[in-house]
Amino acid sequence: MIRFEQVTKRYPDGTTAVDHLSFEVAEGELVTLVGPSGCGKTTTMMMVNRLIEPTSGRILVNGEDIMTVDPVRLRRRIGYVIQQVGLFPHRTVLDNTATVPALIGWKRARARERAAELLDLVGLDPATYGPRYPHQLSGGQRQRVGVARALAADPPVLLMDEPFGAVDPVVREQLQDEFLRMQATVRKTVLLVTHDIEEAVRLGDRIAVYGRGRIEQYDTPGAVLGRPASPYVAGFVGADRGLKRLSVTEIEPGDLEQPPVVRMDEPGARAAARLRADRARWAVVLDADGDLHGWVGLEELETAEDVGALAHRMNAWVPVGAPLKQAFGVMLQHDAGWVAVLDGSRFLGVLTPAKLHEALRRSVDADAQGVERDEVDFDSVSDA
Ligand code: ADP
Ligand code: MG
Repeated sequence: MIRFEQVTKRYPDGTTAVDHLSFEVAEGELVTLVGPSGCGKTTTMMMVNRLIEPTSGRILVNGEDIMTVDPVRLRRRIGYVIQQVGLFPHRTVLDNTATVPALIGWKRARARERAAELLDLVGLDPATYGPRYPHQLSGGQRQRVGVARALAADPPVLLMDEPFGAVDPVVREQLQDEFLRMQATVRKTVLLVTHDIEEAVRLGDRIAVYGRGRIEQYDTPGAVLGRPASPYVAGFVGADRGLKRLSVTEIEPGDLEQPPVVRMDEPGARAAARLRADRARWAVVLDADGDLHGWVGLEELETAEDVGALAHRMNAWVPVGAPLKQAFGVMLQHDAGWVAVLDGSRFLGVLTPAKLHEALRRSVDADAQGVERDEVDFDSVSDA
């Protein structure tokens, strides 16, 4: 969908911002460009919609060389979220969102209707926020409006330059989650710039790690974290990449241990005898449907009249499919040696630190085997 062929950008003062860059983004793919400040990320983005023109090389969007396309027509097909959000201060949120449709000649009513739809999509109630002005919004809300505005004309391609940069870490995570949910429905082809490897890993189907003016590695998040292509990438990704990998690896049913289980309506003494035979010190308590009710210790069980009433509430739980990082966080938060994993309210098993480690290994091994690298012209990248 977007293809860079040996693209170089030299600014008039002689700075080579981008140097023989070759890579490709498939339709519906979200690629993050990550690297330190000044390495050429913004320049790369701005060349896609011709706000900056390459010195040499070619950029194709949907098979068309962009230099042969009228820039205005090109930009209609490319949504752009700029680094500093850039909302018009004297226009309402609704009018800001409707900017592009209005520019390209939609009727006012249709443009506003579309804007309201999009505000809704990015989690802002149009009735509440539509009439407000940008200064009446929080930083996170302004960034949502920036995203809504970029999507307004329903472009197949979206360029986002540090779209979640100006907010605190908690709001940023929230915006990232919302964006991922949204991307799952709208499936745009997205180039997203960030200087934060954590964000790159969380959002990207693939990550392009930038060095000075060039891509040092172009791979899945798992592969970049698990097998950095060079000492530079390893350094950028950081020594704590095992920790970062926790956030991209999901809990699978196969990762779980099956602790002893007691039914709520089971006589305590009988359950206790069973636990003792298994040398278990505690058990998970389930109701008749297999839903998690709590947990109970062996000693308590011996004398229990009513196991259901006796059971302790289980606060340490996560849904199946959650990232390992979440399970680890819950473990620490509740000082628990394990966390229950649920599918809805149904109990599936528990995750222990040992199993967590195993799951992490599984993810490293899977990436080491199944990474596709042949879509990228690495020779031209590294010969540059
Ligand atoms: P990033 O977005 O990764 O921080 P940029 O693409 O903005 O990097 O910049 C890449 C390099 O090009 C930097 O060295 C920057 O100083 C330089 N640069 C950017 N814009 C211009 C310009 N208009 N004129 C000269 N040099 C520029
Ligand atoms: Mg930049």
